[in-house]
Amino acid sequence: MQEKSVVIIGAGISGLKAASELYKLGYKSCVVIEARNRVGGRLQTVSGYRGAKYDVGASWHHDTLVNGLFLEEVSLPKEESAQFVFDDDVAVTFDKDYGRVDQNPDMGLELLMEELMKFNELQYFGGLDVADVSYFETIVKYLYERRNLLTDDQIRYIPQMARFMECWHGIDWKSMSSKCMEIAHQGRNAYVMNYDKIVNRIASSFPKEWFEMETEVVSINTEGKKAVVRTNSGKEYSCDYVLVTIPQSILAHSLKPEPRKGRIEFTPPLAPTVQKAFKKAHYGALGKIVFEFEECRWSKERSRGLSLGKSNADFVSKTRNADNLQALVDELNNDTSYNFKNGEPWDFPIYFVNLAKHTDVPSILALMPDPLTTHVEAIEGKTKLYEFFQPVLTKLLAAFDCTEPILADFDEASKKSNHQGPVLKNIFTTKWTQDDYTLGAYSACVPGDDPLDLVLALTNNDGSIIRFAGEHTIMDGAGCAYGAWESGKREATFIAQKMGKM
Ligand SMILES: Cc1cc2nc3c(=O)[nH]c(=O)nc-3n(C[C@H](O)[C@H](O)[C@H](O)COP(=O)(O)OP(=O)(O)OC[C@H]3O[C@@H](n4cnc5c(N)ncnc54)[C@H](O)[C@@H]3O)c2cc1C
Repeated sequence: MQEKSVVIIGAGISGLKAASELYKLGYKSCVVIEARNRVGGRLQTVSGYRGAKYDVGASWHHDTLVNGLFLEEVSLPKEESAQFVFDDDVAVTFDKDYGRVDQNPDMGLELLMEELMKFNELQYFGGLDVADVSYFETIVKYLYERRNLLTDDQIRYIPQMARFMECWHGIDWKSMSSKCMEIAHQGRNAYVMNYDKIVNRIASSFPKEWFEMETEVVSINTEGKKAVVRTNSGKEYSCDYVLVTIPQSILAHSLKPEPRKGRIEFTPPLAPTVQKAFKKAHYGALGKIVFEFEECRWSKERSRGLSLGKSNADFVSKTRNADNLQALVDELNNDTSYNFKNGEPWDFPIYFVNLAKHTDVPSILALMPDPLTTHVEAIEGKTKLYEFFQPVLTKLLAAFDCTEPILADFDEASKKSNHQGPVLKNIFTTKWTQDDYTLGAYSACVPGDDPLDLVLALTNNDGSIIRFAGEHTIMDGAGCAYGAWESGKREATFIAQKMGKM
């Protein structure tokens, strides 16, 4: 049994930040145990065609007015920090049949979106006990109550436009809580080039001997005065504090008896407050797809595109003729069910980033919500992936002023072709839903959830020698890289104070 001051489980940004802070505070004997063979967790930078770099986990610094990680980065000398660019833009928005629907003065969808967001917010001002419903139900309620004030096109397209929120939360409109749906942005978003620089900077700020890589923690026992942490290699550590930073999706498995990768057995079991809070906590699966081209053959004017889920003309007559809200909700729910049998990308909104505009890399990055993510991440092979996305990708490029057909050339066969249009050289997706140590993307809320319950249950345990950090343990920056970073800092401070080091 090895003796340590603190054992940190997980080398994602929360675990790395905690280790870095503890080292700064004078700690000499800590260990960071990481299941994978790399650090960073859900921050991962990969190389694509001709060595271009992409982040398959987080890409942006969000909330840059208050984002502590971003503010630290801008305070550093240029060579030590990761470059970034403010790339927010109004999305070029298009529908399968209609074409472009954004900035259409007859539809005014952007203004209606604002009204719908306000409508959603106001329904919960009535009192704390107003029942939370799905975002889908709120949208139908808005259509039902405002139908005499909306045109047919507005009734048809605003629901699909509103689904844009799915690409933030990583879950679909029928699963999403409308109470927790709104995102109050605190400043612009900055696209990072790339997160590996930040991860490596923090990971190299404490001794590399602290790392124990490719090692899973399998159990934590806190029955004695010290915590005993056991790994899958049979090693045991005795420590004053143990900091658990594994994702919420993995921690959830500690509440079930079945063994699985990443699962930690807690003795005594996790507190009843944690068990209860998990009933009101869920997890989303935002996924990414990267389309890499030989050259940029489309407009670089705008950086964002949004393809809408397919709309249904019957929506209008059904909404106009309904005499009961619940019956309308049920009917439209049926009309908007989806299946992937025919390889349809038009059932979900997909958010596109035109990387050529700000980074000069001739690639398109796409963000998609679950369950599309789960479906797409299971597709094997570039050709199949391309077949699935071709219709929507073609429309996107048309919206970016490129009407020449796309040539897919994954095996360099037509290297010397004189094709005038875009030549697609590579395509790849994230695999987070299949990754044993992530199982999705980040925390998300379904109707009735309260993320604060889990945060309090995991952090309001002053006397405990088990501490928790990670994106799911904090409200400011919840789900974000900077929230995770902040939580690591919070826990290092807590431990140091308790141990009389501060
Ligand atoms: C597709 C995607 C896009 C995103 N986009 C953004 C964005 O643009 N901006 C933003 O701010 N955030 C974004 N996020 C969220 C952000 O990446 C996360 O909030 C953040 O990286 C989480 O850090 P963490 O330390 O909490 O967890 P993690 O990074 O998941 O770290 C936990 C670590 O624990 C390890 N582990 C698990 N089980 C065990 C075990 N039993 N033993 C040992 N180790 C274990 C894991 O391998 C992992 O390395 C995105 C996430 C995804 C997936």
